[in-house]
Amino acid sequence: MTFVGSMMIATSVPALAVTASDPEHRASVYAPVADDSISLRPQALEVASEAELRPLTTDGYAVEAAPPPIVSQVAGLGSVAVIESDLIVWPVSNPEKRASGFGPREAPCSGCSTYHDGVDFNPGNGAPVMSIADGVVVLATENGGGLGVNVEVQHNIGGELITSSYAHMQYGSLAVSEGQRVSAGQQLGLVGSTGQSTGSHLHLEMFGADGVRFDGFAWLSTHVS
Ligand SMILES: [Zn+2]
Repeated sequence: MTFVGSMMIATSVPALAVTASDPEHRASVYAPVADDSISLRPQALEVASEAELRPLTTDGYAVEAAPPPIVSQVAGLGSVAVIESDLIVWPVSNPEKRASGFGPREAPCSGCSTYHDGVDFNPGNGAPVMSIADGVVVLATENGGGLGVNVEVQHNIGGELITSSYAHMQYGSLAVSEGQRVSAGQQLGLVGSTGQSTGSHLHLEMFGADGVRFDGFAWLSTHVS
């Protein structure tokens, strides 16, 4: 505290310092400071008498090593380390509004697939599209062919590599770039109708390390936290 007090004096005095043009000697830099302006009373840490230092114990808890990340090889990005995470959220704020489910269907347009390998959410044009979990963006393109503006995120769910793919988003709405780490619920883009699409919707595909698409809606229904 003495040091702090000295600093306060030193920094409060220069206003009184003598300058070369000053004909009168007013004050020395080290002039004593009036007693009532600065208190230099030392501070003491008061410890209640009943306070007692308890001995540190190390056997009260177990230290768990963080699970190792999944390292996947991604074209254009190289090795990507995907850290495990168990928080799962819906990709849109109103997931109850859906159109096509996963599986066989009548092709909704000429050239559209008769087997729907994703789930279509209808939250409305311009609605935010969010990552379903923490992960790494491995694809973020405005030229995804039939998928239009498309983002793919790799996740490590319980030690398993899961990829989610978000298609048909609006041009200019990409909020992430390849290689970027994202967290659950982070905005990736906005619902649109780019690529092979008959109207604004989010086409969500999900697949494991084998690339085989599975029903993302059923999976999310049982995994959303
Ligand atoms: Zn679809």
